[in-house]
Amino acid sequence: MSGKMVYFDNNATTGVAPEVLDAMLPFLKDQFGNPSSMYAFAGISQKAVQKARGQVADLLGARAEEIIFTSCGTESDSTAIMSALRARPDKKHFVTTRVEHPAVLTLGQYLEKEGCSVTYLGVDDKGRINMDELTGALGRDTALVSMMFANNETGNIYPVAEVGAVCRERGIPFHVDAVQATGKLKIDLASLPVDYLALSGHKLHAPKGVGALYVRRGAPFRPFLRGGHQERGRRAGTEAVPNIVALGAACELAAAHIDEENSRVRALRDDLQKRLTASIPDCIVNGDPDMRLPNTLNISFKYVEGEAILLLLDQHGICASSGSACTSGSLEPSHVLRAMGVPFTFAHGSLRLSLSRYNTQDEVDYAAEKLPQIISRLREISPYKS
Ligand SMILES: *Cc1c(COP(=O)(O)O)cnc(C)c1O
Repeated sequence: MSGKMVYFDNNATTGVAPEVLDAMLPFLKDQFGNPSSMYAFAGISQKAVQKARGQVADLLGARAEEIIFTSCGTESDSTAIMSALRARPDKKHFVTTRVEHPAVLTLGQYLEKEGCSVTYLGVDDKGRINMDELTGALGRDTALVSMMFANNETGNIYPVAEVGAVCRERGIPFHVDAVQATGKLKIDLASLPVDYLALSGHKLHAPKGVGALYVRRGAPFRPFLRGGHQERGRRAGTEAVPNIVALGAACELAAAHIDEENSRVRALRDDLQKRLTASIPDCIVNGDPDMRLPNTLNISFKYVEGEAILLLLDQHGICASSGSACTSGSLEPSHVLRAMGVPFTFAHGSLRLSLSRYNTQDEVDYAAEKLPQIISRLREISPYKS
């Protein structure tokens, strides 16, 4: 497999699906009309945006008019959270979790500086939240609860239906960051008690630079960008027609492949996990073994550095992520693994392998062969004693 790249970093970003590229290309070439213009040529762009809105809505079990196109998952998260807070300026309490993506966590820190009080719910050693802690955190001052559908690092799936039910009972708006879940899990907003839901194109085989936000009919909403009347005044700025068409196509494709994600991709991930845990001593799998995305494997190796694993994997053409963030030069274990209390000797040697429907058994075989060699090589130069 020399010279070939094995891409196991699909939770960071995904490649554009060929069908998605085909769908968007005409809108990068001849069909460049502005959907807001009045002539028939522009009508083609307008119709394409409408079609895409229907495709996104269909994947989620939503109505087309509940979908707003944005530039990315981060914008969708911010728009939803700021909407709910601005709609109720008398309420100053925001509830989220310690394991959110920075798109939510960093906004939470900003909101604290702006005078909000923010509760970050903890997680247990498997990364699970505690429903009693959630219920106890909600008060008369709570403006919004925001929780991710699935975690980008561990793949953990969170109890959206249960949390949504508790919020609904108390009349508290509920936002879900579903960037990692969309296309990997069946989502039916017709039955889920969710008010806002964020997704991002580049995590489901559409290009970077497009996202969507579901806003339940009747949920409070304040535009993030004001200007023209695009998106019915809810998100100004000329529509990124090629990207929006791509996102629509990617959603339709995801709907068609979702059972495959859940069986073939899961089988590949499970095989990789089984072989790595069998051949490498002193490793642990992070996350909830029973409630995890089918594509994600987060695994920690005692007494090695995640960054070193990544470098050696890269030399073999394997792309993956580590569980540490190189913030301010120091290699801190990720906030997710810290929240779970993964011991430091393990957390520093964390690796995230995230698959997609484009991965093959050959690639799994290759990684299952190389990784044990890499870990034992690194352990030879580490304080590791078996
Ligand atoms: C990637 C990601 C985001 C951010 O999406 P962008 O489109 O990159 O802004 C938000 N939340 C989660 C869980 C993610 O994985």
